[in-house]
Amino acid sequence: MTDWREIEARVFMRTGKRLPVVLVRGEGSRVWDEDGKPYLDFFAGTATVSLGHSNPVVAEAIADQARTLVLTSNLMYTIPQLRLAELLVDNSCFDRIYFNNSGAEANEAAIKLARKWGHEQRNGAYEIICTENAFHGRTLTTVTASGTARYKEPFEPLPPGFVHVPYNDAEAIKRATNEKTCAVFVEPIQGEGGVNVPDDGYLPALRRWCDEQHLLLMFDEVQTGLGRCGALFAYELFGVEPDIMTLAKGIASGVPLAALLSKEHCAVFTPGDHGSTFGGNPLATRVGYEVVKYIIDNKIPAKVAADGAYLEQRFRSMEDRLDIVKGHRGKGLLQAVVLSRDAAEEVVRACLERGLIVNNVRPDAVRICPPLTISREDLDEGLAILEAVLAEKGGGAPK
Ligand code: PLP
Repeated sequence: MTDWREIEARVFMRTGKRLPVVLVRGEGSRVWDEDGKPYLDFFAGTATVSLGHSNPVVAEAIADQARTLVLTSNLMYTIPQLRLAELLVDNSCFDRIYFNNSGAEANEAAIKLARKWGHEQRNGAYEIICTENAFHGRTLTTVTASGTARYKEPFEPLPPGFVHVPYNDAEAIKRATNEKTCAVFVEPIQGEGGVNVPDDGYLPALRRWCDEQHLLLMFDEVQTGLGRCGALFAYELFGVEPDIMTLAKGIASGVPLAALLSKEHCAVFTPGDHGSTFGGNPLATRVGYEVVKYIIDNKIPAKVAADGAYLEQRFRSMEDRLDIVKGHRGKGLLQAVVLSRDAAEEVVRACLERGLIVNNVRPDAVRICPPLTISREDLDEGLAILEAVLAEKGGGAPK
């Protein structure tokens, strides 16, 4: 058998640590490794494979569009792109959209849009207030906007114009605002930062502050958007409409696609300001259209909200019975179990051995973000594995 791990060690850039498994196939909420061992996938490519693996809706859209038209150029009109554009605008609070290929790229475009708006509407203001522990991508600018020092220090000097304040602290944003500020940029729930849900009043306070100060409020919904948190967009959960929003991950259930959406008043790009060869190509947007339509038509956000309530109840019960479970955070199918010690990596590896993929989003937090379409039976099967592993690691069987 080919030793894929040896090949990886020899030829691949050393950008990350992989779990010791070679995955070859997926169906629904399950994936299989090269030895035929099945795993329940509670990670879904970091909350991306929203309709599950090998979903026929996705597979047929890819095959049909591949036979029809994969890519032309944004110099011409293409139909799948405009159908998806209209669908997303009609189902959100936004007026205009532009398509990109990844979350980082959509955020780059959002930052450009905010800076152009600042030049035109706020006397050249360009500074963007971001939050600690935020994650906005790995390009030089989005990594600068992110809030983790170790991701950016090796790449200094970094682009200027970003300041960071603690998350969930509206007063800190007020203190950081000055005449150079053009926007406030936050994830409505921090994903990579540990699944951090802000207090109910935080995002409404940011909306009020931005209105008072004539600043743009930008939400990175790359991870939280498109049903993941139990609403089509997480901004709905907090009763706040941002001026700009970015989407990626679940938008095409694993096919690379991202989007930048904005209200009319700040859609200040003019021809020549932005562009992309692959962005919004017919293949990706056809899949995106079918995925977003499926999510809306099948009321997936309501199903995810019910799954989220069920998960929270199960986590509370683990918390009552297992010393190692300290709490839980999250909404819908973006959840983290918080541990009483830094055991997340051990838990992830033990779950993997027993056939469950989860993620150590923080040293003391295990993230769960399965496909949005996961059945209650699969959820229960995975939770039983997680609970057994936690009981083992937490010093004794469930009480
Ligand atoms: N923004 C958020 C909130 C994310 O979670 C991520 C990826 O994890 C990104 C941006 C970057 O997206 P991508 O990896 O598609 O560039």
